[in-house]
Formats: sequence, structure tokens, C-alpha cells
Amino acid sequence: MPAEDSRDEPHAPERIGTEGEPGAPGPATRPHVVIVGAGFGGLQVARGLARAPVNVTLIDRHNYHCFQPLLYQVATATLSPADIAWPIRHILSRQSNITLLMARAEGVDRDRREILTSEGPIRFDFLVLATGATHSYFGHEEWARFAPGLKNIEDATQLRRRILLAFERAEVASEPDTRRRLLSFAIIGGGPTGVELAGSIAEISRHALAPDFKRVDPRTARILLIEAGERLLPALPERLSAHARERLEAMGVEVLTGRPVIDIGPDHVTLEGGESLPVATKIWAAGVRASPAAQWLGAETDRAGRCRVEPDLSVPGEPDIFVIGDAAAITDRQGKPVPGIAPAAKQMGDHVAAVIEARLAGTTSPGFRYRHAGDLATIGRNAAVVKLGRFELTGFLGWMFWGIVHVYFLVGARNRITVAMSWLWNYLTYQRAARLITGDVEPAPVRELPPDPASLHPPA
Ligand SMILES: Cc1cc2nc3c(=O)[nH]c(=O)nc-3n(C[C@H](O)[C@H](O)[C@H](O)COP(=O)(O)OP(=O)(O)OC[C@H]3O[C@@H](n4cnc5c(N)ncnc54)[C@H](O)[C@@H]3O)c2cc1C
Repeated sequence: MPAEDSRDEPHAPERIGTEGEPGAPGPATRPHVVIVGAGFGGLQVARGLARAPVNVTLIDRHNYHCFQPLLYQVATATLSPADIAWPIRHILSRQSNITLLMARAEGVDRDRREILTSEGPIRFDFLVLATGATHSYFGHEEWARFAPGLKNIEDATQLRRRILLAFERAEVASEPDTRRRLLSFAIIGGGPTGVELAGSIAEISRHALAPDFKRVDPRTARILLIEAGERLLPALPERLSAHARERLEAMGVEVLTGRPVIDIGPDHVTLEGGESLPVATKIWAAGVRASPAAQWLGAETDRAGRCRVEPDLSVPGEPDIFVIGDAAAITDRQGKPVPGIAPAAKQMGDHVAAVIEARLAGTTSPGFRYRHAGDLATIGRNAAVVKLGRFELTGFLGWMFWGIVHVYFLVGARNRITVAMSWLWNYLTYQRAARLITGDVEPAPVRELPPDPASLHPPA
């Protein structure tokens, strides 16, 4: 079958390999590297192999690469999805040794050296699994429908919809209890994502939405940040955790620590001890579970389902198969687990590209050494916590540093400019540009509207 045919028939099971099979770029005799996942890790491997004598196939179920650290800003209407996601094809369009496939990986046939995908099996000489992680509800999968998490663009637009709809529905609700419940938001999990979401929802309700609603006062929204552990941001020193908590409380967020959630339903969150909180909008930012890369390989995992890998990031007993990023479990030189963050995934991606190149050159490469640059989280306007080695920043300086780092790491000049301009506009005007409720919206039952709107909206 000529190469064009394979593109015309996206669903025909196809095999893409090293023996002149359709789709493989470059000379057919080159080794074929298949990378699954175009996130931080997978993209870095692909780029690292740009000049290597290999044919690369990069597979992702989406056609875009997503900058997850700013997803919470899409969920809270600061940025639009296109500001933080880019077509993978465009990112790699100048790389001549790569083929991109939009497909879902479903398994690995180790004996046949094939990755099994929704579009058919694909032969590999080297395989890199960089499929990231998903939410973990700690065995309570039934909570997922009431408290969705934030991992990709779809999650972010769905959360944005839920948050904005809650305000719209509160505006037409007649019962004070219903309004109170609709204006209550619970974020479960006090890590960086939970802190960022809580701060951002507080800001949107106190500032951007406040003047636009007439029957309810968005400033009265109850925002709960619930953490099972004793403090927020456990990866940071206690002083910075305490600072984050203080700032959030000053913004009107109720921070509950040491309060594990034991039940979540359509209209409530129940805490250990039995306290049930009436909350319409719940967001899960508590647990992470690796994608099933290790299961596909039948490999050993840690408790979060991450594949235990060798020092060179290959799978034990499979020197040509690598697992990286959030899907991999490995420790640093101090014996601490390498964290599931973007720099770690990128460093692993660089490392695997170097290992493959070294292998092809007949040399060896040293084991993976993780370098931790630091931890940072933003809380809201003029407020962030940053820890870089012994260096700590809070307040405006921390916030500026956080902003510069995030703009710097975005892909492409257009996005850097768009995001920086959106932030500037947001800073100057308190407005949120992306306040769109998309998708089918079931109208809330309109009962009797509050008789005296003014009484619900106290003067500023
Ligand atoms: C909301 C949020 C905020 C974050 N904030 C920060 C932060 O501030 N700083 C930081 O350093 N880190 C942050 N992280 C963590 C960081 O984003 C991850 O550690 C990093 O993305 C991991 O990279 P990865 O390559 O392993 O996986 P990912 O970047 O998640 O990429 C995985 C890719 O694999 C694809 N994929 C998955 N399964 C399949 C399949 N079966 N078939 C085909 N394709 C598949 C996905 O579509 C995706 O493109 C955040 C994460 C989230 C969710």
C-alpha cells in the first residue's frame, strides 16, 4: 500500500516499522523509535532524537500538547484553551525524522515488539512510554462524577462550565439554602493545584463576577479548600505552607486541614467525623494515579501504579523499552522519589534520547540523575510561594517570578505574548476574558425569583 493510502484510511490497522512499511520517515534501515505521549516527557524525547539516525513515530490520543501547569487558569476563565495548548504537528513540523499519529495506545506485545493502538499495531525497535498520570479517587471512583479533576483541556473547560453555571443557577434560585449551596465550592486536595484553584475561584467571585450579578452577590461565595494532611503544600517548608494558608484566608477561602473527605455526593461533601457540607461544585485535586503503561508491560509498580524502572529508565528485563515522566517510579540520589512534575519529565525525556543515541553509537551512558530546581505555587494576585534551594520568595516578588517562569516555559511566541497580555489585562481590570459556558446547558428550574434583589447584594 502506498504511503498516501495509509493516511486516507486512518482506521485501517497499519504497521509502521523499519522495513519500508508505510508512514515511516527516513531510510527504512534505520531503527524505529516509537514514543507514546506528547506531553512534557515524550516531546522532549522526540526533540532529543531530531538529529539521531532513527525513524521516530510519536503517538498521542490528542492532537495537541497541553501545558498542564496553567490548566487551572482555563478552568477559572483567565485563559482560553488555545493559550496553553499547541498542535503537536506544528511543534514538530520542522523535524524531518518524525511521523505523528493521533491514536490511543492500548497495550504492548513484548514478544512481537509492537505497540497496540486504536489504529492497529506498530512495530518498534525502541519504545518510550510517556503517557502521564490520571486522577485517583482512592478506591471511590463513584466520586468522579461529582468531583471531577483537572488533567487536560476537556477537564478544564468542563470545570469552567460547572463553576460559571453555579453562579448562573444561584442567580435564578429562589430558596436561600439553594443559593447558598450553589455558591459553595469545595476543592479537595491542598497541593499546588488545589491552592491555585481555590485562590483563583476566590478572585473571580470577589472581583470579576461581583459587579455582573444582580440577584446574588458572588462575593458571598463560600470557597472551601479541604486537605486530609496537616498542612497545605506539603512539598514546601512549613513557613511557606503557613504563608499560603494566611493569604488564602485573607482572600476569603476557608482552609480545612487534617480533615479527610469520606463521602462526596451531588450536593454535599462529608468530612471524617460526619460533618456534611452542602456544596454544589466539588473539584478533585487530591490523588494521582499513573497511566496504565506498567500494566501493558506486566511490570512492577509502586502504590500509585507507576512503573519501577532501571537507573537508565528502561523497564527491568527490557533494555529497549523505557517508561518516563509521571508514569515512571524512580528515586533521586538521596533516595527520595522523583516528583511528578514537568521538569522531571523533561529531564527523563532528555536522558532517554541520550541513552538511545549512545546505544546506537555502541557506547554507554550514565544512569539518570534528577536535578530538582525548586517548587513554586501561586495563590492569587501578588501572592505566590517559591522555593529554589535555600532561596525563598513570597508576595509580589514570588508572584512575578512564578509568572515569568510560566511564560518562559510556554511553547511559541504567540502564546507567550497572549498569556502575558491576558495576565496584564486581568491585573489591571480584574476581568476574566474567557467566561464562556460552553456545551449544552440544561436550564435550571426557574421558580420564584428573590423579591428584593438589592437585599441580596450588599453595597461594596
Ligand atoms: C492541573 C495540573 C497542574 C500542574 N502544575 C504543575 C506545575 O505547576 N509545575 C510542574 O512542574 N508540574 C505541574 N504539573 C505536573 C506536570 O504537568 C506533569 O508532571 C507532566 O505533565 C508529566 O509529563 P508526562 O510527559 O509524564 O505526562 P503528560 O504531560 O501528562 O503527557 C502525557 C501524554 O500522553 C498522552 N496519552 C496518555 N495516554 C495515552 C494513550 N493511551 N494513548 C495515546 N496517548 C496517551 C496524553 O494525551 C498526553 O499528551 C501539573 C499537572 C496538572 C494536572
